Amino acid sequence: MAESFDAIVVGGGSVGMPSAYYLTRRGLKVLVLERRTAVGQGDNKAAIGGVRATHSDPAKILLCLRSLEEIRTWKEVHGDDIGWKPGGYLFPVYSEEMEKKLRGLFPLQRRHGLVNDWVDADTVADLLPGIEREGLRGGTYSPNDGQTSPLLLPIALMRHAVRSGAVVRVRERVVAYLVSGGKIMGVKTDKGVYHAPRVVVATGADAARDGQLLGIDIPVTPDSHEAGITAPVAPFIEPLIVDMRPGPEGKTANFYFGQNHEGQIIFCYTPRELFVGTNRENLSEFLPVLAGRMVSLVPRLRHLLVRRIWRGCYPMTPDGTPIVSNVPGVEGLTLAVGMCGQGFMLGLGVGQEVAALVVDGKHRLPPGAAKTIRYGRDFRSGIMEALK
Ligand SMILES: Cc1cc2nc3c(=O)[nH]c(=O)nc-3n(C[C@H](O)[C@H](O)[C@H](O)COP(=O)(O)OP(=O)(O)OC[C@H]3O[C@@H](n4cnc5c(N)ncnc54)[C@H](O)[C@@H]3O)c2cc1C
Repeated sequence: MAESFDAIVVGGGSVGMPSAYYLTRRGLKVLVLERRTAVGQGDNKAAIGGVRATHSDPAKILLCLRSLEEIRTWKEVHGDDIGWKPGGYLFPVYSEEMEKKLRGLFPLQRRHGLVNDWVDADTVADLLPGIEREGLRGGTYSPNDGQTSPLLLPIALMRHAVRSGAVVRVRERVVAYLVSGGKIMGVKTDKGVYHAPRVVVATGADAARDGQLLGIDIPVTPDSHEAGITAPVAPFIEPLIVDMRPGPEGKTANFYFGQNHEGQIIFCYTPRELFVGTNRENLSEFLPVLAGRMVSLVPRLRHLLVRRIWRGCYPMTPDGTPIVSNVPGVEGLTLAVGMCGQGFMLGLGVGQEVAALVVDGKHRLPPGAAKTIRYGRDFRSGIMEALK
């Protein structure tokens, strides 16, 4: 006979593990199904661990503020080291246009509780020793943001969820959703059938395929991005940095990096031309372009020894904002997909939102904010995320 659960979470990644954790905390008997060999091994593992609430969309600001609240106190409350490194986020600014754009976001960000301020060029240089001073106007600095480990966090969440009764099955792929009379009844995997009246789809870059299985449109398109990490050096950078200048070589849109809790410099750039698809092979051009970009901002970084590079996917939606929503017409179905380049920082906030949607049947976010992450919204009129 098929096993029964109160809720099934499909996908054990940046979003699926927090969702399972908060659902078990709300008293549900939860099953997590993950097709890979362990949880957190999908695009979660590709993230460089940045957690910030400096967004231009109210839902993202509020969800990330919740994530930060949980991450900041995690060790104290639960005892696990999740590699939390406070230090904020710094956006150095070299042009009047960018200064205007970033300052223009302050009123909305502050209305939603984010601490983000303009700092002068000397303060930027203190926060990022060795930064190129020519043309530096100052920057924005949000001191309460930080970074944490994408390798440690999902494991901690899994451990606590399992202690509270969740069941996690890896190497098990969902191949069909059981829907009858407009209600979700469970899922079929490559190993068996499970029943549950609530199913959460948290399948990241694969979500469009789940849409096909469900007979609904889930507009998530993966595009791939590369990142890397150096050998550790003595700590000298506190914040994570986002360099919004167009790259000098014309291939990069922005570049972000920081020094993690182990002293390694971890980095990534957004290519000007996106690579649509799930190809995760490294490109030969990444390191030379990256190195040029990095050294143009902080010349002293030229001495770093790069240890490893990798590639992963941003699960993109057409308007750059996630879909966290129940689905009208399919009772018991919740989508938590399309996290774009911010699924790791959104994860815990989204997990809480998923628990509210599943257990209470409604968003925890205020209605005005929740509408930008609703399923079935008009993607052409959605708010474009300025700070991807
Ligand atoms: C280079 C790079 C750097 C990044 N840096 C950051 C950062 O600093 N901060 C940040 O917030 N974000 C960052 N991101 C983005 C972040 O990694 C993603 O947005 C996030 O991991 C997406 O979370 P997810 O849970 O939707 O997907 P995933 O973490 O990929 O989880 C989805 C899971 O579902 C599983 N799955 C799929 N289909 C099935 C099925 N049918 N059955 C069972 N299991 C299934 C997959 O195996 C996977 O484990 C970065 C991304 C890249 C590529």
